Amino acid sequence: MNPEVLSHIDRLTGDDLPAYVYDLHALREHVRAVRAALPERAELLYAAKANSDARLLRVLADHVDGFEVASGGELGHVRALFPDIPIAFGGPGKTPAELAEAARLGVSRLHIESAHELRLLTTVLGDRSIDILLRVNLPLTPGPVALVMGGRPSPFGLEPAQLDGCLAVIADDQRLRLRGLHVHLASGLHAPGHLDLAEDVLTWARDWAQAHHIDLTEVNIGGGMGVDYAHPDQRFDWAAFGAGLHRLLSRHRNLTVRIEPGRSLTAYCGWYVTEVLDVKHSHGEAFAVLRGGTHHLRTPAAKQHNQPFRIIPVDTWPHPWPRPQARREPVTLVGQLCTPKDVLAHRVPVRQLRCGDRIAFAMAGAYAWNISHHDFLMHPAPAFRHLDKAPLTADVS
Ligand SMILES: *Cc1c(COP(=O)(O)O)cnc(C)c1O
Repeated sequence: MNPEVLSHIDRLTGDDLPAYVYDLHALREHVRAVRAALPERAELLYAAKANSDARLLRVLADHVDGFEVASGGELGHVRALFPDIPIAFGGPGKTPAELAEAARLGVSRLHIESAHELRLLTTVLGDRSIDILLRVNLPLTPGPVALVMGGRPSPFGLEPAQLDGCLAVIADDQRLRLRGLHVHLASGLHAPGHLDLAEDVLTWARDWAQAHHIDLTEVNIGGGMGVDYAHPDQRFDWAAFGAGLHRLLSRHRNLTVRIEPGRSLTAYCGWYVTEVLDVKHSHGEAFAVLRGGTHHLRTPAAKQHNQPFRIIPVDTWPHPWPRPQARREPVTLVGQLCTPKDVLAHRVPVRQLRCGDRIAFAMAGAYAWNISHHDFLMHPAPAFRHLDKAPLTADVS
């Protein structure tokens, strides 16, 4: 945690909590380093679904080649913020209205998920043309990862054999410009695993293109760069990934490779900060009840992990009775929801955790607030604070 973030948290009053605190400076440094690690011929998109907060997108926009969006809502949001930035539009179940909007707003790439979707597109294009990638569900096994999206039965993308039907539609329609393939097979891969997969994907894509006499110029190999919530310091090795991609590209000379990470770009810049409302013991186990919960930060419930956190001690205790606390024992951190699933961290050993202390959950910048069930129990929403360095500015938006 940057000292600026810590001192900002110290200055928040109880009424300001819970709060999402975004460290825009850290985000900028991170995305800059990611971009610098990648070969020039690799394009970097940010998958907006990880966190579409406008202030974060503004920082990212200066360092990425564009944004990947997965709905008409995200498309409109990103286009309104950035009239000119390249946008790739992917995701299953695009409606005719969304396809028409993609054509109208001029997305730079549309990722086609099925032959039906491609045919629907031809009915809404009018006299516009559009650049497309066919999303393939390749029979490749990515190994043990968090979320497998392909290589087995999946609603995402086309089977290799189904590509032929799409090629026939494209051959018949001048408005459809096939630019290449899109393959997002898994999330949660470490750099060596991701490179192995990328190598298999590019080899497959080259063979496929040769067999179909297609001049393949680009492949989007997706996102899914691993984020390890159990080891916050062990980050995806972008330097190794970039070097490996460089070697790979030297064997695919005319190919542009594009990646579209989400989580690995924004997870680390966000903190969900709150306070301990109560500490209780029940059947021999300690529970800390926090202001807020998984309706603000659903990530640990969704991924079934302990959200990493740090305790920020608050030494004042305003009441005449003894301060509820846990000492040198495992504590389960729960929220205010009336469900046993409202757990942010399970049986984590602490030296001391007291009622009134603050908790800052780390790695809350991706798939956090925006995947949470905000309205459940009608608790107030958190505040959102965006910190940047020198001069330190914070605002509530
Ligand atoms: C979700 C998604 C991404 C981003 O995945 P991360 O794990 O956040 O990097 C990229 N591409 C597609 C098609 C996706 O569905």
